[in-house]
Amino acid sequence: MEHGVSVAWSKVPWSRGAYIQWSDDAAAARDALALLAQSDGPLYFAGAHVSHVPGWIEGAVRSAQASVAQIAGRAKTTTPASGSLR
Ligand SMILES: Cc1cc2nc3c(=O)[nH]c(=O)nc-3n(C[C@H](O)[C@H](O)[C@H](O)COP(=O)(O)OP(=O)(O)OC[C@H]3O[C@@H](n4cnc5c(N)ncnc54)[C@H](O)[C@@H]3O)c2cc1C
Repeated sequence: MEHGVSVAWSKVPWSRGAYIQWSDDAAAARDALALLAQSDGPLYFAGAHVSHVPGWIEGAVRSAQASVAQIAGRAKTTTPASGSLR
C-alpha cells in the first residue's frame, strides 16, 4: 500500500454497524476459531471473524491469506481432471 486512506464511517450509507468481537471466554473462542479456520469440503471461511485479530482489517487480511494458502496447497495436490477439489 502506497497511500493511506481515511473513511468517515458515519458518511458511508448502510455502515455504522458494529465490528465483530469474540466473547470473553478465551477457551471457547480458541476452539471455535480452530474449527472455522478449517475448510468444509470446497467451502473456506475467511474474514476478520476467522482470525486472532477480530474487528480489524488486519485480521481480515490475515484470514484471507491463510485461506488462499490452504486453497493453493490443495490445488497443488489435485488435478482439475480428477475433480477432487470438491
Ligand atoms: C464503524 C466501524 C469502524 C471500523 N474501524 C476500523 C479501523 O479503523 N481499522 C480497522 O482495521 N478496522 C476497522 N473496522 C473493522 C473492519 O471494518 C472489519 O474488521 C473488516 O472490514 C472485516 O473485513 P471482512 O472482509 O472480514 O468483512 P467485510 O468487510 O464486512 O466484508 C464482507 C463483505 O461480504 C459482503 N456480503 C455479505 N453477505 C453477502 C452475500 N450473501 N453475498 C455476497 N456478499 C456478501 C458484504 O457486503 C461485504 O462487502 C471497523 C468496523 C466498523 C463497523
